[in-house]
Amino acid sequence: MSLSPLWTDIDWNRAGRQDSFLNLEHSVHRSAYGIVPIPISLFKNGSGPTLLLMAGSHGDEYEGQAILTRLIQTLDADSVSGRIIVLPAANLPAALEGSRVSPLDGGNLNRCFGDSISDNPTSRIADYIANTILPMCDVFFDFHSGGSSLEYMPCTYATVSDDPDKAADTLDALEFMNAPIAWAHKGIPQGSEAGRAAYRNGVVYLSGEFGGGGRISRQATRVAERAMYRLMAHLKILPLASEWKEEIESRLMNASQRHYFYADRDGIFEPAAALGDEVGRGDLAGTILNPETPVQAGVRVFFPESGTWICSRAIGRVRRGDCLGHLLTDVSREEILASE
Ligand SMILES: [Zn+2]
Repeated sequence: MSLSPLWTDIDWNRAGRQDSFLNLEHSVHRSAYGIVPIPISLFKNGSGPTLLLMAGSHGDEYEGQAILTRLIQTLDADSVSGRIIVLPAANLPAALEGSRVSPLDGGNLNRCFGDSISDNPTSRIADYIANTILPMCDVFFDFHSGGSSLEYMPCTYATVSDDPDKAADTLDALEFMNAPIAWAHKGIPQGSEAGRAAYRNGVVYLSGEFGGGGRISRQATRVAERAMYRLMAHLKILPLASEWKEEIESRLMNASQRHYFYADRDGIFEPAAALGDEVGRGDLAGTILNPETPVQAGVRVFFPESGTWICSRAIGRVRRGDCLGHLLTDVSREEILASE
């Protein structure tokens, strides 16, 4: 038998709400014609833009999965102007495991959006999102967090296009979302992350790192949910409910590779500062200790730049090459637009 490797009965152009599944073929010993049913909902009414909301790209990042599950339960299609496509657990096998990668093939969905697609279950999900769903979309909001191994101060994130009009659209949306920290990264995504597929389709790409550490945070969930509803109001897809109207102080920030720091020895990383601290270049970030050889001197790790400690490793034990965290620095909208 050979049918489509991924199919759905969703009618993308029908008004009203539809709750169904993307059926991913998965043929294995115990189930030759088996499928993985990935939930999808569509809300369409009147005229307006198309927004894709996606969570569970990484199965161990829970804030977005919770928010989109609640949205599906509460959203009234009649209140929508335009079209909202919701994928609350995009890499369903990973979401069911609470794992960053899929137990089916080890696939990391957010590393499967490159310009060539491999033939495995995770890549087939990416292929369908990139080549069937995104061509219908104007804006893509992709929920992330630090997962099991990293912890983030909750922040929105956007890739800012080289195209001046698209860049302005992206920064306007980010500003209206009004998260406490908005991280903007200028340039065409070069890797195989979802932003690359959005770029290929001319879709505005918005994301966020909402918490982490393998748990779900009330505060991060609140930041992410507020950002989502404010984005939908900015796009005029939904009116802005009074609950989300209050404006808060927001910092526009960015980072480069030199803001990331790594373990250069196995051991236990004991931090010398806390997430959210303002730190200076050369300040002590922490020490890698070896309880297995306790007389061996610890290795001190220093912050490579000045900035705000926005992301830290959430697991105490480290191996050489593990990312211990990264910093963000304040930046103006004009500096983002002028950067390469
Ligand atoms: Zn993620």
